[in-house]
Amino acid sequence: EQRLVLMDETAIRRALTRIAHEIVERNKGIDDCVFVGIRTRGIYLARRIAERINDIEGKPVNVYDLDITHYRDDRVRPEVSDAEVVGLPEDLINGTFTVQDKRVILFDDVLFTGRTIRAAMDALMDSGRPQSIQLAVLVDRGHRELPIRPDFVGKNVPTSKQEEIQVSLSEIDSTDQVTIIQQ
Ligand code: 5GP
Ligand code: MG
Repeated sequence: EQRLVLMDETAIRRALTRIAHEIVERNKGIDDCVFVGIRTRGIYLARRIAERINDIEGKPVNVYDLDITHYRDDRVRPEVSDAEVVGLPEDLINGTFTVQDKRVILFDDVLFTGRTIRAAMDALMDSGRPQSIQLAVLVDRGHRELPIRPDFVGKNVPTSKQEEIQVSLSEIDSTDQVTIIQQ
């Protein structure tokens, strides 16, 4: 097994700052935007970027958590099956939050086949018709199986299917680092 560091703490910080500016520019501000972070690490990315945007624009952004899982979360032999939504934001279930007319920005750590994002979009659109859905990911590792592309990318990393990206974020992993693991 071989490990290579793709992004260190500084590179991650710069990428998230850039994405924060890109989101503000693309949406001409942050009004009507809601952030939805996909568990686990997408949530921390969404929160960090919301903090930066608060610094830039002086406005808070609502951040919601979405829980998606794979029927088979098998990264070493990635025969990825469909993703399943296992947890919707409480506000979405009880109706205090709707995506109706909102600019929804989805956050995830790694984009691979696109099936997780498809499941997330399905779940969100059950609660209304968003003005738009945009996608921000820290790493795009390729191998899409659906016509989905990210709007905001920290780093594009061409990978083989045998390789695995490891994303560590200080909130839960004690360090900020992106590595690639070659089996
Ligand atoms: P997809 O649904 O696009 O096939 O896979 C994306 C989801 O699986 C994301 O939620 C992501 O966290 C996880 N994932 C897929 N490939 C990798 C990978 O190489 N490394 C990590 N850390 N997560 C991955
Ligand atoms: Mg994930």
